[in-house]
Amino acid sequence: MTPPSAITPESGPVEPPLRLGLLVGDGIGHEIVPDTRRVVDTAVEAVGRDPITWMELPIGFDAIDSHGTPIPDETLTALEGLDGWVLGPHDSAAYPAAFRGDLTPGGVIRKRFGLFANIRPARAHAGVQATVSDMDLVIVRENTEGFYADRNMHIGSGEFMPTPDVAMAVAVFTRAACERIAHTACRLAAARRGRVTVVHKTNVLALTTGLFLEAVTDVARGYPGVHVDSEHVDAMAAHLVRRGGDFDVVVTENMFGDILSDLAGELSGSLGMAPSLNASASQAMAQAAHGAAPDIAGRNRANPTAMMLSAAMLLDWLSDRRGDALLARAAERIRRAVADTLAAGVATADLGGLASTAEFTETVGARILRR
Ligand code: ATP
Repeated sequence: MTPPSAITPESGPVEPPLRLGLLVGDGIGHEIVPDTRRVVDTAVEAVGRDPITWMELPIGFDAIDSHGTPIPDETLTALEGLDGWVLGPHDSAAYPAAFRGDLTPGGVIRKRFGLFANIRPARAHAGVQATVSDMDLVIVRENTEGFYADRNMHIGSGEFMPTPDVAMAVAVFTRAACERIAHTACRLAAARRGRVTVVHKTNVLALTTGLFLEAVTDVARGYPGVHVDSEHVDAMAAHLVRRGGDFDVVVTENMFGDILSDLAGELSGSLGMAPSLNASASQAMAQAAHGAAPDIAGRNRANPTAMMLSAAMLLDWLSDRRGDALLARAAERIRRAVADTLAAGVATADLGGLASTAEFTETVGARILRR
């Protein structure tokens, strides 16, 4: 039942307020994150929804300056009370030595809020030269365990050195986490072309990636319209290059998913085009698949597409969760405006174009309003 506070007699139902966190991050984050906010605000206004309330929170180099840490407790506490977040890239490899061994700010957030599903679409766009011109797949990456030793322990790291000349790492695969990500992949496939490809390496990692394969295969039996097949990770890398257009939903563990999604993003045009969403059952964070690109930071050259499409994914996720159809319409406007902008030949330097970040954003904003 609709709560009485959500109804005003004069104007009919109104949506509950939407409060989103904005974490600018490092490097090109200072350009692409504010531009993404602008585009989201334009789309939300264009569909006639009440504006989003943004809360900008310190993270990365700015937070080191202001709070002495790249991921302050006050940021984490504030995130808890918000509906979702947009996270810019961070350049944690360049942080002062005292912070370099730590989990990255994005890793801390994913671990703290249990954002177990990293959903990374890779799609070729008209007007963008792509190595695989018919690419349209989604990589569903398990985000909490697997071979990423920096996040697969409750306390401490799964990577350690018994002596200065011996380094070891532990991989963690639990049936519960494998089944959880399998449901995410199967639900997504059911809404797309109905095919899930499980990526593993069972010929050398029979127990760990074998458990992953077995769990996904078992879960998929509960989705009659979904067909499951599987590939070894090394073969999958080759298949993506040769026939990436054949795949629909690809589900895999943490590290395989990280590597394959960068590959798929680049094959579909540029890393600057590859969006991603990190989600649990109750919270979600938009985060482009690429890094802080320090080589082009501050030069108005970054491609904001990945960040904008990540924010559109967040709006879709919030629309589903809150039953707020206007958010899905705003997301669709962003996606179409980006696609139309690219199809019209407006492109940043990574795509061989001449447009600056600001010009690209301005064109996307104008196209959102035109529809
Ligand atoms: P991380 O490990 O944090 O993901 P990385 O070391 O893999 O970072 P990126 O920062 O993603 O590296 O940059 C890799 C290359 O891609 C760089 O040459 C960078 O300029 C380019 N690049 C990344 N993102 C973009 C973007 N949005 N627009 C244009 N070029 C980009």
